[in-house]
Amino acid sequence: MRAMIILPGRTIYHEQCCWHLRRSQQKNWIRMSPKQAEGCGFRACKCCGTTRFHLTSEPKALNRFVQGKHMEYKLLGNTVYVKTEISCWSIRYLPRKFIYSIYHRNASPEPVNFAHPELERYHCQADKRDAHTLEACFQYIHSHDAYRKSELECGGDIRRMNISPKYRQQLMRKERRRQHRRINALFAALEREHPKYAALACC
Ligand SMILES: [Zn+2]
Repeated sequence: MRAMIILPGRTIYHEQCCWHLRRSQQKNWIRMSPKQAEGCGFRACKCCGTTRFHLTSEPKALNRFVQGKHMEYKLLGNTVYVKTEISCWSIRYLPRKFIYSIYHRNASPEPVNFAHPELERYHCQADKRDAHTLEACFQYIHSHDAYRKSELECGGDIRRMNISPKYRQQLMRKERRRQHRRINALFAALEREHPKYAALACC
């Protein structure tokens, strides 16, 4: 995790690229994690501790995802909304933890109303809850929805999906493990209900 910067005698912590630090000398900087800073009673800078600040400091990296990838984004308050070909996402910054949390739009037959994405309903994305940069969030969203779109187009058939052979093998192994667990759970349930069945098992 990147260290936050505190100027001597001050109680606000900044990111290294914050313009409030431009006239200060690096040798005077005090470095600590956001957690340590909060423990000392310091608070996040209202300039660099915002999503707007990161959007302006990471535009090149973010536009790389938007251009040619059918993605668009907008900032409302301190939340970034991202629309892809198949869904919508919300990204919220938590300066105290120096992380972004990612939320996915709930499944709905209605098209996304990107004029007012704040009115959509979202759930926390359990498998990728936190990221330290907007770029990491955009990368996750792009990969997630590209995979889902491919999955939808192939009716869930992994062999026909437009993914790398290595990733296809990983998915197929994962699917086989899932099927084994399912069958084991099924037999365990049968044996609990009918204990005599256990004697019929050959292994
Ligand atoms: Zn700052």
